[in-house]
Amino acid sequence: IYKEMKSLNYIFICLGVAFFMSCEAKETADIMPVALSCEYLTEPLSIDAAQPRLAWKIEQSDEARKGQLQTAYQILVASSQENLDADKGDFWNSGKVKSSHSVQIVYGGAPLKSRQQCWWKVRTWNNYGEKSAWSKAAYFSMGLLDAADRQARWIGDRPDTALYKYIEYVQQNHKKPDFDVEYWKNPPHQPSPLLRKSFRIADKAVKRAYLYASALGYYEMWLNGKRVGDRLQAPEWTNYFRSVQYQTYDLTAQIQKGENVVAATLADGWCLGRLGGIKWLHSFPHRGFYASDRRLFAQLVLEYADGTSETVATDKSWKINPDGYIRYADNFGGQTIDARKIEEGWNRAGFDDSSWANAYEDKAVERTLVAAKNEPIRVHRELKPVSVSRWSNQDKYIFDFGQNIAGHCALKIKGKAGQVLRLRHGEWLNSDGSIYTESLGHAHAVDTFILSGGDDYFDPGFTYHGFQYVEISGLELSETSLKKNENLSLADFPSDFIRAKAVSSDPDITGKFECSSPALNKLYQNIVWTQRNNMFSVLHDNPSRDERTGATGDVQIFAQASIFNMNMAAFFTKFVDDANESGFNGQFFSMIPSLYYENFWNGWVGAPGWAEAGLIVPWRMYENYADRRALATLYEAMKRHIDATEKENPELVWKKRHNNNGDWLNANTVHNPPDTTYSVRRGATPDDLFATAHFAYATRLLATIAATLGNSADAKHYGELADRIKAVFIKSFVKDDGSVDGNSQGAYSLSLNFGLIPDNLREKAFGHLVKCIEEYDFRLSTGFITTPMMMEELVRFGRADIAYRLLESERFPSWLYLVKIGATTVWERWDGWLPGRGFSWAGMNSLDHVAFGSVSEWMFRHILGINPDISRPGYEHFTIQPRLGGSLDWAKGSYNSIRGIIEVDWKIEGGRFRLIVSIPANTRATIVLPDGSQKEAGSGKHEFSVENIKK
Ligand code: BGC
Repeated sequence: IYKEMKSLNYIFICLGVAFFMSCEAKETADIMPVALSCEYLTEPLSIDAAQPRLAWKIEQSDEARKGQLQTAYQILVASSQENLDADKGDFWNSGKVKSSHSVQIVYGGAPLKSRQQCWWKVRTWNNYGEKSAWSKAAYFSMGLLDAADRQARWIGDRPDTALYKYIEYVQQNHKKPDFDVEYWKNPPHQPSPLLRKSFRIADKAVKRAYLYASALGYYEMWLNGKRVGDRLQAPEWTNYFRSVQYQTYDLTAQIQKGENVVAATLADGWCLGRLGGIKWLHSFPHRGFYASDRRLFAQLVLEYADGTSETVATDKSWKINPDGYIRYADNFGGQTIDARKIEEGWNRAGFDDSSWANAYEDKAVERTLVAAKNEPIRVHRELKPVSVSRWSNQDKYIFDFGQNIAGHCALKIKGKAGQVLRLRHGEWLNSDGSIYTESLGHAHAVDTFILSGGDDYFDPGFTYHGFQYVEISGLELSETSLKKNENLSLADFPSDFIRAKAVSSDPDITGKFECSSPALNKLYQNIVWTQRNNMFSVLHDNPSRDERTGATGDVQIFAQASIFNMNMAAFFTKFVDDANESGFNGQFFSMIPSLYYENFWNGWVGAPGWAEAGLIVPWRMYENYADRRALATLYEAMKRHIDATEKENPELVWKKRHNNNGDWLNANTVHNPPDTTYSVRRGATPDDLFATAHFAYATRLLATIAATLGNSADAKHYGELADRIKAVFIKSFVKDDGSVDGNSQGAYSLSLNFGLIPDNLREKAFGHLVKCIEEYDFRLSTGFITTPMMMEELVRFGRADIAYRLLESERFPSWLYLVKIGATTVWERWDGWLPGRGFSWAGMNSLDHVAFGSVSEWMFRHILGINPDISRPGYEHFTIQPRLGGSLDWAKGSYNSIRGIIEVDWKIEGGRFRLIVSIPANTRATIVLPDGSQKEAGSGKHEFSVENIKK
């Protein structure tokens, strides 16, 4: 009876609460929670975090009153769609929580088990006393949380003992063995193995079939002949010694009655293949850095409608054909496919695999598996060629795609059995019309297709190249509709003969930028392409030559620009995990994922301006996404970094550096500038100043992060240390007349930007900066790190006019110089190619580097005027302050922030400035107009104007 009374009570309470809630607020169509996400992803299938973070945006209807703010929310998380539809949050009913927060809401319900399926929805209350309807349902599933759930074994071909022995020798002796020297350069490469497993399923309805897949190397998988998902290059690049990602696919719809076949093939990827960075490691073989054998780990978990389940997992019952049709695959080298070796139906039911061996189960593999937490790498765009030419009357056809991309070409062709087509890739053309490949180093970037004689389709997804041009040799003209004429055109080829597939990690685009200067619009497009081309789960330095490492200077300096352009929240969450390790001395690595090899190679640590990415990137995540977890995750590593730097440099001038790049690619690195007045001696910023400034800045930032995380003792300790470093900086590098060591644009920009000039000397120091710019006749002499700082300081000190002049200059070296000569991406160095002189030093001349593209951050902050507010992070509040200048009469664009879309549209007409802004619900903005007046605005559309504007 007592029990019943209790449940009756419960029902009454529930009814009461429901009644109270429905009385309390009437439902409105003005607001609606949308874009529900879990750990920054839309409907993720494997969440590792025990307490996932939920978020939504609030959409407001056109008719809605302005100034909509969220005052409360209620979340329901249910174990089934039915429960959720019946408003039963059996995992979590948050109740009505008074809060303005709509991001970073930590799940607070019942503990979630491995593979738990969760359906959720949310409704919100506004500041007008109304509530929204329930949002649409969203879904997430937990990953394979317990080791016991991971039934699969690591399988593949028999171990490559030769490679293993070689690596062991190198590790123990720290030098190349004197045997087999060739092996170092060209370790033998086996074809990609084919693996398959046939199984019959019980004759009952399948409710859910999830495939969990991982590999040492890359995998591609099929279920019943149909490709699993659209990901490429999984599992993505991590420090594979520490952790390997697994990906999860919902294959429920692909399961068929009776016999099913799950199949896979493997390639080297970054785990085993050639790897940037180790090319300087002369004793290490060019293969096998993170592992010496390709291995597959996969399990398909079938759940039947009757509640039973079974798992098909990799083990030695899988069949293997080590001699697959992919003869070679490497990110740098390219891919060779022999279509004659594709056995019809090998990945489908009904195939006779009795001649195949059993797979080898590798018991020695011990790796930590983690769920993928970032968006897939996949084809984001397919490009048709814009023209074709025949090179120097040879049998070489060069297709131009009109855009420098990263990815590969897919080809449709019918030719002779055994005919060999060779595709070479290049970012630019030499003056004789051939493709420019000198700068690629070991990255030969050659794809080779051997024709079957029937209809062939080649789509080499186990490699990628940076290219705008592809040269094809081996085409036999008679086999296509080609004519051997002088006026070759694309019409001479079948219309679907070739496509360039642009590949990258694929988060949503968040930024839009347009203005009255077509050249700046093109620059912006070029920057977004450059970002795309370098996002392969790691934001790497370039997609073309034999490096492609996550150089952290490039990452940190481009981080805010990248955030304006795309939703980087999940991508950088992976970065935070990758960054969470310390080098031998405690400092952060300068390349992430690290290239550290235990007891053998330090993998580069602590480069000033690079290693600080371990503090700067999470801080950007906090500022833009209100992400405290990113700060907390790296907090101990941040402290280790600063402590190590202090320990090694007790005088507080950062002199002991294990890796040093300085203000990379400043004017001093230009070879033969076209104009002799351009000095190649006044660009550099002295290394000690550069390093100490970063030490001071990062220490101050750590103090701020400590305070943000509520650690006041650390905040005090690092705040005092930062004060002391600043004092040493001033004493060592700043003179009484406000000049600093090096007297370069970069040295002033850095010292001012990091707040290291005493207040009474700031104006003077800025005066010196302007003089340095004048000495260069209003051209840049700054490198990767100080360029955006200079642009920012010019605005801060009221000289946006100079910033605009630099931005819009078409004279070398400048952003629009590159646009003018036809670049479609941003280059590593301004002098990558100069009229009259030609290409720069081939050893370092990528035409696809993000660093100088950081100027798009300036374009968002100052042309559109959108600026986050660190005191109310995650766009709870922000500022819109367009700065007029240059040739611009209008600009419009938007940023889809974590709380919704911010739109800006301004125009100057007849001396009148008119600005229309759109503010998302649950945010507030301060608008600063060109006459200096300030307005506060809540959600909705607002128009402002200022008369008598002089540009
Ligand atoms: C990369 C740069 C990187 C630098 C520093 C270069 O080779 O391409 O972008 O930051 O190395 O080590």
